[in-house]
Parts: sequence; structure tokens; C-alpha cells
Amino acid sequence: RTRRPPAECRHDIDAFTPGLLALYESLKPSEEHMSKQKQLVDSLAKSVSKEWPNAQMHLYGSCANSFGTSHSDVDVCLEMEIGTEGAVEVLLRLADVLRTDGFENVEAITGARVPIVRMSDPGSGFSCDICINNLLAVANTKLLKDYAQIDQRLPQLAFLVKHWAKQRAVNETYRGTLSSYAYVLMCISFLQQREPKILPCLQAMEPTYALTVDGTECAYFDKIDQLQGFGADNKASIAELLWGFFHYWASQHHYKRDVISVRLGKTISKQEKSWTTRVGNDRHLMCIEDPFEIGHDLGRVVDRQTIRILREEMERAAAVLQYDDDPCVTLFEPY
Ligand code: ATP
Ligand code: MG
Repeated sequence: RTRRPPAECRHDIDAFTPGLLALYESLKPSEEHMSKQKQLVDSLAKSVSKEWPNAQMHLYGSCANSFGTSHSDVDVCLEMEIGTEGAVEVLLRLADVLRTDGFENVEAITGARVPIVRMSDPGSGFSCDICINNLLAVANTKLLKDYAQIDQRLPQLAFLVKHWAKQRAVNETYRGTLSSYAYVLMCISFLQQREPKILPCLQAMEPTYALTVDGTECAYFDKIDQLQGFGADNKASIAELLWGFFHYWASQHHYKRDVISVRLGKTISKQEKSWTTRVGNDRHLMCIEDPFEIGHDLGRVVDRQTIRILREEMERAAAVLQYDDDPCVTLFEPY
């Protein structure tokens, strides 16, 4: 199959940058939101320390990776020694403690890939997921946060893409579409591959940060202050980048052949990763390599039907940005 040549975006695309940036600003969490979040975390810490005085609490996910909106949940990881009792038992006990302390809708979800307790805070109404010893998530949260500080076009692009995905109902892993985490990785990978580059590949540089979690080494260059202005030679506006992102996934990405890799700052072939044959339920139709757990394909939730939906949505988004009179509205129309 031959690839379509890269099309050019409309010449007046920059006219939509102010509208997109205004939307981005409105999606960012408010001061009030942040302080309510802090209250939730403090009261949770109190409940946990009564029962597990040595547990350490880490925030991860969008409340800590700087890609959180005012609709994002709060993700918490407890780091603790668990003895003969397994993580599931600890979670069940945690659920009891939280119910007693007045948290609402407390539910232990123990069958998931990462078992959690989910609950909501009556004060703020926030929903909160708590997991145990998932330090890889803590490490990838830091990686995302560090990338976000290199060039502000990453948070801008990622907020808009996440908002689009939620509005268009393609941010639902339980239904075979992609997680927020996957979308942020797609944005990082896209900006790493602009010419000139807007983001570097931190894992390809001399490591200044290293953490080994269950035998998986998480190492990369994290002296972000030395990378300020890295992408300055590339003057692309956010409107152009947003169109470029959807155009890439609509018609340039080689779905059959390639895997996107933030770890390497480029795409690699499925063949190199042995992601060509179906093993069990892993289909590898749309391949997004986890930066640290490199055997983990964040696209493995995607099946034959949902890949079609995803690609149609990418095509719609690219076309709206290309031809619509009011793309800032049309793009985000609820599905
Ligand atoms: P949202 O704003 O939608 O809540 P989020 O960034 O919190 O976005 P989630 O998809 O809720 O994204 O994931 C929370 C965190 O869990 C991610 O930031 C990542 O650290 C970790 N995570 C989620 N899915 C995976 C996965 N499939 N593999 C590894 N880590 C994951
Ligand atoms: Mg989250």
C-alpha cells in the first residue's frame, strides 16, 4: 500500500490558534480545584496513616503529571511493605477503613490489571483511585511531567487532544479505545518527530535520574532546566500542530508496520518488537510502546472494530481543522 503524500494544512490555520489557546486555558484546573484536591489528599493520608503508619503516599496520573483538567480524577499510589497478606487483601482492608472514615462510593476493584480502590470525596465530589506499590506509574508520571516542562506546546496539544477524545468518546479503555496516558504519549512522540524537533528524546540522553522497579530500569535525563528553549527553532502554532497530529494518525501513520516509541523518539517496526503475531488477546493493531515497560503495548485494548472508530475520528478531526468554518467548536462536538 502506498502512503498518501503529506498534505499541507490550510493557509489560514493560525487564525484558530487564539480560540484553541482560550479553550486550553479554560480546561486547566483552577486554584480552587487544586486546593480541594490537596484537601482530599490530606484527609486520605490521615486515614491511611492510622492503619499503615509506614506507608508512603505518591500522587500519579494527571493530578501529578501536569496533564490534569478540572474533570480529572485523583490517582494515588501507596508504597508499603506487604507481608504474607497480598495487595488485594490490603485493598479490601483499605476500602473498609475509607468507608468508616466517611468517604463515599468506596469500591475495591481487584480484578483489573492494576487492582485499585475507587471512592469519591463527599467534600469535593472528586473521584479517587488508590493502588498499591505501582511505582512504574509513579515513574512514568514524572517522565510526562518533565516532558511537559520543556515546551508549552506539549501541554497545550495534549489538553486539546484529551478533551477531543473525551468529547468524541474515544477515551474509554474498557470499550476498546485509548487511555489518557496513551494520548499523551502520542503527543510526545509526535512533537519528538517534528522538523525541527519540538521535544528531545530524554531516554536517549545521558541519564540523570534512575529508578529500578521490579527489575525494570527507568532512566532518563531529567535536568529539564538545561533544555529550556529546545524547540524554539520550530515556530509551528498550536492550530497547525493539532491539525498535524490528527493528519498523522488519519493518513500518515503506518498502522500495519509501525510502533510509536517515546523511548526512542521515533517509530520502530512491529517486527523488531515481535508484535506481529497475535498472542492471546493482544492484537497490536495500533501500537504505542510504554516508555519503561517496553513489552507493554498501550494500544492492545484496540480491536478490529474500535480501530475503525478511532481512525474515522482522526479523519474527521483532521478534516474539521482543514475545512470547517468554526473548527474550535465543531472539533469538540459531543459524539
Ligand atoms: P485523566 O485526566 O483522564 O484521569 P490520567 O493521566 O490520570 O488522565 P489515566 O489513564 O487515568 O490517565 O492513567 C493514570 C496513570 O496511570 C497514568 O498517568 C499512568 O501513570 C498510569 N497508567 C495508566 N494506564 C497505564 C497503562 N496501560 N500502563 C502503564 N501505566 C498506565
Ligand atoms: Mg487519572
